[in-house]
Amino acid sequence: MADADTADPQAMARRMLDGLQESNPQLAILAQLMQARTIVPEPVSEGLSDEVMRLADQLAAAEARIDAMKRQARKLVALHREADDRLADLAAALGACGLCWGEDDFCPSCRGRGRPGMVRPDFELRARLLGPARPREGSADQTTTH
Ligand SMILES: [Zn+2]
Repeated sequence: MADADTADPQAMARRMLDGLQESNPQLAILAQLMQARTIVPEPVSEGLSDEVMRLADQLAAAEARIDAMKRQARKLVALHREADDRLADLAAALGACGLCWGEDDFCPSCRGRGRPGMVRPDFELRARLLGPARPREGSADQTTTH
């Protein structure tokens, strides 16, 4: 056996395949397919490979930042909805417009007239949010006189 033959792995593989084709043709086909798979990806030049690795790292970092921003955005949307609901409850408890609190002349609900007390407050909600109504000091029970 020549030394050049044993030193070259591709020549060795070819010789083994030749032998296999005689003894077991089906296995030879499988071996050919496997060899083809390992040969197909052409080696990238060193400089290009470094550049590809650098870009892949940048892409992964950017994707991680995007995921973090998406999580933050979902959290902010949830918090905004919570605050919105709480404000709407408070507006109802105070008899104010839940959309604009009387600050928007073009409000579709109140046309800017929805300041607190403009409509009958939701007393149940009011008691839950602000505690039970108490009469003012030095006057008769005003909650019952109105
Ligand atoms: Zn309004």
